[in-house]
Amino acid sequence: MKKKKRTWIYILPPAAYDIECDRCKGSNLAWSEWAHKIWCFDCEKDTPGTDGIFDGPIPYEVAKMRKIPLEQTEYSMAPYPTK
Ligand SMILES: [Zn+2]
Repeated sequence: MKKKKRTWIYILPPAAYDIECDRCKGSNLAWSEWAHKIWCFDCEKDTPGTDGIFDGPIPYEVAKMRKIPLEQTEYSMAPYPTK
């Protein structure tokens, strides 16, 4: 499978969306530069991670109820460290 570069991210790091590292179960994460992956600062690896709030049938409704911001921005404009 060819890796694809991520072009956008959510404005908060993955842990804000209940995503965990699938390797160490940690939440010390950033969005990876690769699409569909996260970067784990503890494992120092790009990894798929867990689905977090995006695992449910109505994730956006749940996110809205919990007031989790789903705004997106360009990857290069990440408002937090990505690596
Ligand atoms: Zn990890």
